[in-house]
Amino acid sequence: MPSRAADAATDKPARRDGPRAQASRPAPSGPARVMQKLGLRRDIDLALHLPLRYEDETRVLAIAALREGEPAQVEAEVRSARVEPRPRRQLVVRLADASGELVLRFLHFHPALERQLAAGVRIRARGEARTGFFGREMVHPAVRVVVPGTPLPQVLTPVYPTAAGLPQAYLRKAVASALERAPLGELLPPGSVPAGLPAFADALELLHRPPAAAAPAALEDRRHPAWQRLKFDELLAQQLTQLAVRRAHARRAAPRLRASADPGSLRTRLVAALPFTLTAAQCRVVAEIEADLARAQPMHRLLQGDVGAGKTVVAALAAATAIDAGWQCALMAPTEILAEQHFRKLVDWLEPLGAGVAWLTGSRKGRARREQLARIADGTAALVVGTHAVIQEDVGLPRLGLAIVDEQHRFGVAQRLALRRKSAAGDAGTFEPHLLTMSATPIPRTLAMTYYADLDVSTIDELPPGRTPVLTKLVAQARRDEVVARIAGEIALGRQVYWVCPLIDAADDDSEAPPPGGAGVDDGGRAGAARRALAELRNATETQAMLAAALPGREVGLLHGRLPAAGKAAVMSRFVSGAMPVLVATTVIEVGVDVPNASLMVVEHAERFGLAQLHQLRGRVGRGAAASVCVLLYGTPLSDTGKARLKAMAETNDGFEIARRDLAIRGPGELLGARQSGEALLRFADLDADEALLRQARALAPRLLDHHPEAAAAHVERWLGSRAEYLQA
Ligand code: ADP
Ligand code: MG
Repeated sequence: MPSRAADAATDKPARRDGPRAQASRPAPSGPARVMQKLGLRRDIDLALHLPLRYEDETRVLAIAALREGEPAQVEAEVRSARVEPRPRRQLVVRLADASGELVLRFLHFHPALERQLAAGVRIRARGEARTGFFGREMVHPAVRVVVPGTPLPQVLTPVYPTAAGLPQAYLRKAVASALERAPLGELLPPGSVPAGLPAFADALELLHRPPAAAAPAALEDRRHPAWQRLKFDELLAQQLTQLAVRRAHARRAAPRLRASADPGSLRTRLVAALPFTLTAAQCRVVAEIEADLARAQPMHRLLQGDVGAGKTVVAALAAATAIDAGWQCALMAPTEILAEQHFRKLVDWLEPLGAGVAWLTGSRKGRARREQLARIADGTAALVVGTHAVIQEDVGLPRLGLAIVDEQHRFGVAQRLALRRKSAAGDAGTFEPHLLTMSATPIPRTLAMTYYADLDVSTIDELPPGRTPVLTKLVAQARRDEVVARIAGEIALGRQVYWVCPLIDAADDDSEAPPPGGAGVDDGGRAGAARRALAELRNATETQAMLAAALPGREVGLLHGRLPAAGKAAVMSRFVSGAMPVLVATTVIEVGVDVPNASLMVVEHAERFGLAQLHQLRGRVGRGAAASVCVLLYGTPLSDTGKARLKAMAETNDGFEIARRDLAIRGPGELLGARQSGEALLRFADLDADEALLRQARALAPRLLDHHPEAAAAHVERWLGSRAEYLQA
């Protein structure tokens, strides 16, 4: 145990009744409440709250033995403590031990500190000695008042990750007492933990209370065996949960939808009627999906493919198979623009073949909606396309056999579950629909293994022929005028241009773009500062006026999320038809919009967008035969992450590479979206560095679940407790 003396410089002593007494009260306050918020609720949660680093308070040096610039601790008596006005206001404390004198300087200090460090008091001070204005000194050392004869701690002092309102000393005591109570026995059967890793309790003991002889650097390195053991356990808990979910899914029943090769089937006629031949990659994923659909368990498959890879036609073929088998199909897209575009394409493809397509969106109300509902009810339309309006209560899809969700990461977990549950209430009774999700944001393999154990993945790794890669140029915002000049040239060639802005208008502080820094990882970016910065950004409304003035006689459209649905549709259809050469838009055009004649995209303040988002935006061009350019305008100065993102965009067009870099820049939590991943994120394991452990955990999970189900349950409870349900969605 570290010394019980109060840490005078930084922290208040913990209250006598301690965290245990507080936790049992109905509404904890102060530090106990912060602990709750951090998820440190049970003793075991505290035991699994591991130090970031350590401080060595186990030794003291004589003042005379201090070496310049090396961290060390001394124990000495205070001779005087005075606030000196010069060279600037500061608290100057003079100390002495038998060997010499030392000055401590505090530029920022609490008045209480001056009182505590009265002459004659004995203290321990830790810091780096150097020679300064007052001679041999330490600036802002950690100090602690000690009773003479207080023994030195036997272990290194852990420094835990904490938050505002939860002092380190309080947390340290809470963890130490939780460690006494928490059940830390081995839960896993002998032989199941990878060789060479310590027992669970030993790993925790070592990391929380390393012996004085341990080298802090070795313990801070997360490759240490004790760390490996905890990471393994963490990964195992997650794999067990995922496996349990997967097995539960496999017990559910879905209708068998067999793809028909009959020349009269919708599927066969659709393939024949397409204006292009499918790529080899498309054929492969269609076969994978059809194999799933033919099974009596619900498919849960993610179709991933870079922007423009041709996922929609794959979805259409899956829908045709469902319809051929006598079932209904629903396709859900995250925005009205995208839903409408899918609707048009599917109508073009399917209605000439006699298959009706209905469409439902939030803005389609009254008679129009009733008409669509009637077409669904009487079977005229076996395919329904729309936004989340498709999953509303009054939409009866009694024979829903296949649900397709485009850009699945845009939907919340709740919406996806609602869609999956949709048919359970219908006359299909116990059947659940097959689920196909689509995304252009590929999930890295290790992430898929970790978080989506119940998900199968199909990948379209080839673009349709005849595409020319998009050339990406990084241009400083100051050179915006040159870019405007370039637009005129592009239009003269009969091509079309997107201009994307982060804001709608000057009054818009609720931007459609992410906060600066993509997800706010790299900046201390609090909302106020972010808003001020955003207020300076170019906005779509002004830009539209500017471009309209610069391009007389040309139609410059404006599209953003606040336009009514009919207005959006009108603008979009003018752009799609080619009548409107330039479209200024917010990120509403981010996903799915497909106008092959558009060959130039300009993104303003590109540094404000996330990497996945930029890649999506860029995917709006390069869809036709013309060579396309994406100009990323950036404001200065650039943050490090901003720089890394723009560099990635300039260097590669490959969505998988982009996703890999995004993961490297942001970490997995951000990639999943904070809300979805919730607290389920890995705290210790790192998907890249710990792939070997992940594989071992993945191999152990089924054996444990089959042969030691109680151990598996206890292990999951230890690691996830009440958070286990997060992993099930
Ligand atoms: P995404 O995968 O981004 O959703 P889309 O499905 O919108 O891509 O397809 C992009 C464009 O490519 C569409 O115009 C689509 O009709 C066309 N397309 C799809 N597959 C092929 C193919 N095999 N050959 C030629 N064009 C194709
Ligand atoms: Mg698409």
